[in-house]
Amino acid sequence: MGRPAKASIDLNALRANYRLAQQVAPQSKSIAIVKANAYGHGCEACARALEPLVPAFGVACIEEALKLRAAGITKPILLLEGSFTADEVAIAAREDFWVMVENDQHVEQVRASHPAHPVQVWIKVDTGMHRLGMAPASLPAIYAQLKALPQVAGEIVVATHFSSADMLDDHSTISQMEVFSRACEGINAPRSMANSAALMGWPDARADWNRPGFMLYGATPFGRPHEVADQLRPVMTLSSGVIGLRKVAAGSAVGYARSWVASRPSIIATVAIGYGDGYPRHAPSGTPVLVNGQRAPLVGRVSMDMITVDVTDLPPVSLNDPVVLWGGELPVNEVASYAGTIGYELLTRMTGRVPLSYRGGDE
Ligand SMILES: *Cc1c(COP(=O)(O)O)cnc(C)c1O
Repeated sequence: MGRPAKASIDLNALRANYRLAQQVAPQSKSIAIVKANAYGHGCEACARALEPLVPAFGVACIEEALKLRAAGITKPILLLEGSFTADEVAIAAREDFWVMVENDQHVEQVRASHPAHPVQVWIKVDTGMHRLGMAPASLPAIYAQLKALPQVAGEIVVATHFSSADMLDDHSTISQMEVFSRACEGINAPRSMANSAALMGWPDARADWNRPGFMLYGATPFGRPHEVADQLRPVMTLSSGVIGLRKVAAGSAVGYARSWVASRPSIIATVAIGYGDGYPRHAPSGTPVLVNGQRAPLVGRVSMDMITVDVTDLPPVSLNDPVVLWGGELPVNEVASYAGTIGYELLTRMTGRVPLSYRGGDE
């Protein structure tokens, strides 16, 4: 029964990717980042699969962390954007959430809180991304202030985030590391720097704690071949099926706005996937799709529920034949680059209409 569009999630691949992160940085502890519903892969199932392997999880906000607790996840969970309101500090202490302190308001929220027991705190330092975090020069004072608060648990981790770690020739990662180590001088605290790209691409960024996200889902953050990233295994396969098939004459237009016109007699397969599922509407004619495992170009506009594919050059295609939109042999990053975006966005903006199914639930 049912529409063939589905996303199949390979939990063995997810665990293998986490193990690769550990293997690359064996001296560090790596927090598995499962924000944004585990980058669209379903945070509960992914966290359950990873829980035996990881020291902690990371999410953007307390709502995401509480969802993991409701699913039975017991490991600590780092709140990457910190607290949004003062009451979150006491909840964090109770639930074993770690709070990122990014600004003076966060410090005040900790100071004003009455947690039942001390809360674990990380301090974010802005070393050049200029999005969140404390000025490097203010770190010693903030650190001392937080250290002295009875609401704050023993060890404070000091963290920063890179703007351009995926650009392996860009010097800014090195300067951010320099700013960070200068800011941390004289502070005897564990440190955290690396996201996925830094973990794989910048050995000096592997500190006490890493924070890999994207790589766990099996896609490379780099725009070119990379020895480690190329060993990652894609976790999501977004697939559907052929629900319409027709021959069109040369000169016939296909789809909304008649944006694509056949230059020869063509066979057009209609596939049940569209922007209502999270397939990017900006994917232009020529974006690759796998029909029966073979590449064929999308043609015409992406509709809400359907796309059209030129299968003229493929061995005969039939109704109900399987189609892969990304995953396996077709990297999500490749589809993303046709659509003018990145794999991160395509994965995280999958809509609730696409059912997620899981393989490899138990080790
Ligand atoms: C999302 C996020 C990460 C993970 O980044 P990836 O590029 O997905 O590995 C790490 N640290 C912070 C602060 C983040 O917001």
